[in-house]
Order: sequence, then C-alpha cells, then structure tokens
Amino acid sequence: MASKRAVVVGSGPNGLAAAIALARAGLDVVVHEAGETIGGGMRTAELTLPGFRHDVCSAIHPLGRALLDVDIEWLESPAALAHPFDDEEAALLRRSVDETAASLGGDADAYRRLIRARWHGLEPLQLLRAFGARGSLRALSSAERVARRVFSTDRGRAFLAGNAAHSMLPLDTRPSAGFGLVLLTLGHAVGWPFPRGGSQAIADALAAKLRGLGGEIVTSSPVDELPDADIVLCDTSPRELARIARLPDYARGYRYGPGAFKLDWALSGPIPWRDPRCATAATVHLGCTYEEIARSEHDPGTVPPFVLLAQPSLWDDTRAPAGQHTAWAYCHVPHASDVDMTDAIESQVERFAPGFRERVLARSARGPRELEAHNRNLVGGDLNGGLMDLRQLYTRPVAKLVPYRTPRKGVYICSAATPPGGGVHGMCGVAAAKVALRDTGC
Ligand SMILES: Cc1cc2nc3c(=O)[nH]c(=O)nc-3n(C[C@H](O)[C@H](O)[C@H](O)COP(=O)(O)OP(=O)(O)OC[C@H]3O[C@@H](n4cnc5c(N)ncnc54)[C@H](O)[C@@H]3O)c2cc1C
Repeated sequence: MASKRAVVVGSGPNGLAAAIALARAGLDVVVHEAGETIGGGMRTAELTLPGFRHDVCSAIHPLGRALLDVDIEWLESPAALAHPFDDEEAALLRRSVDETAASLGGDADAYRRLIRARWHGLEPLQLLRAFGARGSLRALSSAERVARRVFSTDRGRAFLAGNAAHSMLPLDTRPSAGFGLVLLTLGHAVGWPFPRGGSQAIADALAAKLRGLGGEIVTSSPVDELPDADIVLCDTSPRELARIARLPDYARGYRYGPGAFKLDWALSGPIPWRDPRCATAATVHLGCTYEEIARSEHDPGTVPPFVLLAQPSLWDDTRAPAGQHTAWAYCHVPHASDVDMTDAIESQVERFAPGFRERVLARSARGPRELEAHNRNLVGGDLNGGLMDLRQLYTRPVAKLVPYRTPRKGVYICSAATPPGGGVHGMCGVAAAKVALRDTGC
C-alpha cells in the first residue's frame, strides 16, 4: 500500500519537529519553506561584515535544550544571565539556586523559597505543564504582584522583572510572572545554553534528522494555496493560514502582540562592561530597576528601553574573526511600529559599558517590518506568534479544545500561534502532528 503523503508549510522549529513526527510514523513528508534557507527563527547569517555570524532571531535556548532532541554542541556561560545596576554589583542567574540567591542580597531567602517551593526539581516538561494546563496561582499572576509580595528589595524585584519581560506583556498583566518563573527555573534545571555555530545548528540538526527518515525540504518555495496531500501542517501565522486555505474568517479575533526592534553588532572587542560580572553571562538584561523595566514593557518604544542582550561569541569562536566579537540585542516596540530604537538601545548599552560605541565596527538594525519581511510569521514584529496573555495562552489561535485543527479537513496549524506558544522548542509541531496522525488513522 502506498504511504500517505504529508506536506509541512514552513521550516521553523515547529514545522521541522512536526515533519519528523510524521516521517517517524511512516508518512512521505515534504517541507516547503518560503525562505532561501531553512530554520525560520533559527537562522544564523552574516548580517554585518564577512566572518561575523549573527543569530537573525533566536539566540538563547533553555527550552530548546530541554525539549528538542538534537545532536549539537551546547555551550553555556558561567552565569546564564547578568542583571547590572547603576551603583551595585550585577545580580547573576547561575545553575545553583544558592549562588543565584546570594547575588540577590536581602532577597536571598525570598528567592530560595520562591524557586524551591513549587518549581525546583520539576522536569522541564512538567514545568511547562505546571505553567499551562494545571497551572499555579503564582505562575498565572502578574509579575507586579509576585514582585511586591515575594521580594522586599529593589534588587529582587528588578531581577524578576527582567525575566518576566520576556512575556512581552505589561508587568501588571497576568501571567507575566509565569514567564519569569519558568525561565528562572529552567536556568537552574538546564541552563540558558546556546549552540556552537549559532541557532542555525539546531535547524540543521533537525533537518538532518528529517532527511534521515526520508523527508524532503524544498527552500525558496512559498506556498500560496493548499497543497494536495493527506495531511497539511502549517507552521504559519493564523493570518497566513487563512490566506492559503481561503478561509477569510479563520481566527479573525486572534491578537498579535508588540513588535521587536533588533540590533546586531560586529565589534572590535568584547563589550567593555563596567561590572566585569556581566562578562560571565551570555545574556544580559539592561533595565536596572523594576520601575524602569515596567515602564518600558507598559509602553513599548519608551526611552530608555529594557534591552535583552546576548554575547555568545565570548564562548563561541565560530561567531567572529579572532579577537573580535558579535552581540545581539532587542527591545520591545509597538506592533508594526516604524520607530528607530538604534540610538536608544546603544545608549542603554553604553550606560552599563562605557566605551561600547567605539567598539562597533558595523551594525544591522531590524524593526518590526524588516523582521516580518525576513519571516512572515513575525506579524508586526511579534516574536511570540501572537499575544500570550492569559486568554490566548490557552486559546491559540481559536477557542477550541483542539486548536491545531482548522475548518479544512486534513489541514492543521502547528506554529507558535498554537499551545504552548513562542520559543524554540518544537512542542506546537509535535502536538499538532499527533492530532493529525490520530485523525487520519496513521
Ligand atoms: C528577534 C527574535 C529573538 C528571539 N529570541 C529567542 C530566543 O532567544 N530563544 C527562543 O527560544 N526563542 C526566541 N525567539 C522566538 C522564536 O524564534 C520563535 O518563537 C520560533 O522560531 C517560532 O517557531 P515556529 O516554528 O512557530 O515559526 P518560525 O520559526 O517563525 O518559522 C516559520 C517558517 O515558516 C515559513 N513560512 C511561513 N509562511 C510560509 C508559506 N506560506 N510558505 C512557505 N513557508 C512559509 C517562514 O518563512 C519561516 O521559515 C526569538 C524571535 C525573534 C524574532
């Protein structure tokens, strides 16, 4: 009997993870990718000067390491994260809860209790489930509530705020605390690693696995109408699926979140941090106080912005010519905004690293429109595939018990616009593939 045929639209982590699950089940699988290269949010490219390799989107992968089964070399910095202050030593997230707590001064005990009470010791998948279906009152709270109730110092509150800001939600909105708690706990459980060679290494490893199972990937192949196949899985935005499947009313009420404004730098040397502790962490959060970060997340595009910065070349010599470096940074801006945050982001780096600008050899700047032009899933520059507030955490992209199904038989959506949402982890793809296989009796 001939094998059933499956087409996957899009080669992001969710598309590739879905394709692998389908190929493992014995289907003939072809992935069509609009871009010239595979990977979606996991691409690494020379964005500035020859020899300087930058992660175009995703750079740091606690979820990827926890949940993706890929044969790559993971690198880890001594601290996962540094959070510098204007007048005090930086706080550090380390694998050890005690060492992390020690960097939080007067909130050391509060931090130990917060992490150990509910989260520490959970496996990464249990952690996501605890944050998702079964929930936890604290994780479903706003960061503001947890910061005020748990911590008594500005230091502790600011540290939580920086992590919660990854939610792209205002910090007084639920469940921004959950994002912070999950990221902190992952920092203790698996670290915040990054692949040697950049995030492209994850894409290449997933593609190799798929090809090993007989799957095929076709690049420069944008899909404009539904392919003829037994199963079609779309690693696309709901808006793109509506266009391809000619379903104008599909997920109409779905809400996209703020955008990102991203800078990549080619640098003549490492970032000259005033506090040398910042040079021990691949990720640095630049926002200083709870209030400053909260303002920036409440009104994306505000100056000074809360800046998320990554400096993997300090531990990965494949990213830049010898002695030179790359760095990656972004802040949140209004959805689809044209605002240019170059000066604001660089001033924020300069505040904590005087002399930084003198080391910039070249820069690449991408606002929401450029990000969306690079990858049509980044609607309005939203890097989570849609707002991840309390309602849309569970009803992505439609309020259905099984949100992966679409009104077209055999057609499924499997991108970050489905549960459990944004990030490089492939879980949306795996879940959608399981539903598709069950529905079609494969
Ligand atoms: C600036 C930035 C920084 C980020 N940092 C991190 C990070 O550090 N860690 C982390 O875990 N996550 C990070 N993310 C988020 C992460 O990249 C995404 O959540 C993740 O890539 C989503 O995976 P996906 O498979 O759903 O979609 P994507 O990775 O976006 O892939 C979708 C693919 O589908 C293709 N496609 C869409 N429509 C079509 C079509 N019609 N025909 C053919 N192909 C199509 C696109 O070209 C794209 O390649 C970041 C994102 C951005 C933008």
